[in-house]
Amino acid sequence: MAKFKIEYDRDGCIGAAVCEAVCPKHWKMADDGKVNLLESTKQDKEEIYIKEIDEADFESMKVAADGCPVKVIHIQNKETGEKLI
Ligand code: SF4
Repeated sequence: MAKFKIEYDRDGCIGAAVCEAVCPKHWKMADDGKVNLLESTKQDKEEIYIKEIDEADFESMKVAADGCPVKVIHIQNKETGEKLI
């Protein structure tokens, strides 16, 4: 079962591509200069994208979130509800 929930505010992305460099499994640059969170679900009416990941992908996703200069990538522990970043 997925342990972490990823929330991505695409509106704020400035296309620095740190996330794609360190975590290409989940992030890919799009034609509009912002990244897409691959296989994510878009929330209604907002540029917020949600995805769940397993423990195995946590480290690379954490590096991506830490490295994002505008902090639009957030990680939540699904079991505890704790917001990790
Ligand atoms: S690191 Fe942040 S600003 Fe840069 S492409 Fe990824 S989400 Fe966008």
